[in-house]
Amino acid sequence: MVYEKLALPSENIETMLAAVRADDCLGANVTIPHKQVIMPYLDELSDTARAIGAVNTLVKRNGKLVGENTDAFGFIESLRQKHIKLQDSSAFIIGAGGAASAVGYALATDEACEIILVNRTLARAADLADHLHEHFPGLELAVNDWAALEYADIIVNASAVGMSPHADESPLPTGYMISSRAAVIDLVYNPPETQLLRLAASAGAQTVGGLEMLIYQGARAFEMWTEQPAPVEVMRAAATRALRESSRPVTKSQTN
Ligand code: NAP
Repeated sequence: MVYEKLALPSENIETMLAAVRADDCLGANVTIPHKQVIMPYLDELSDTARAIGAVNTLVKRNGKLVGENTDAFGFIESLRQKHIKLQDSSAFIIGAGGAASAVGYALATDEACEIILVNRTLARAADLADHLHEHFPGLELAVNDWAALEYADIIVNASAVGMSPHADESPLPTGYMISSRAAVIDLVYNPPETQLLRLAASAGAQTVGGLEMLIYQGARAFEMWTEQPAPVEVMRAAATRALRESSRPVTKSQTN
């Protein structure tokens, strides 16, 4: 079996989908910037993909190409492995893109009692709050309430802030503190230990890096394609190795 990374110019989506529909292909993952753009080209969307509003996995079912989303599963599983409970928690999400939507969906289905959404572009956070409300009418939601950071049980960075090559940046505005009671999850996986996670650890909070979610969303996709248990340890070793290689400084002989 082969799993490989392909660059996909937007004008080639239909060609790529024809290749995925071929008998020798089990399915595919899609990532930014195609997670939403691809939705109208598919035969069906799962309820999860529809509720999140994004697709990250293409699966074949009964001759149809179905858009799935495994990010919410990956998020929940990465927390479950660390015994972090979501039920009845106050959850603070930074970001309002596809990843924030998957996290919001995961928190709502796992019965978090309150979700606070903050984002650089306020209108996007308000749109995400409206979208979550449509699917979970009883959910308590607040937008742009940074003060809630101080009492939140779960703090999630679902923004791109802190990603390599801007690894010294934190998504927290200056002056805001993390409580030692909180669990802090950074979806950024490159670098594996972000500035936010360092701040959280120094405040005494529990921390979870984005690599675990990445592994478990991939594992779920693998199981959808093969109907076999995913080799999670093999996947973790491969992802860790790939990250280590991508962060290694480029030597002179490699540039020639
Ligand atoms: P996206 O849809 O492009 O959303 C990006 C988000 O980051 C938006 O909320 C954007 O705010 C915010 N942002 C970007 N640059 C910023 C800056 N300089 N200052 C403040 N906010 C900024 O991307 P996405 O798919 O949601 O992914 C977001 C992050 O999650 C990425 O780092 C991605 O690698 C990570 N991720 C991880 C996993 C995993 O498995 N661990 C899975 C999915 C995504 P605006 O709305 O204001 O632009």
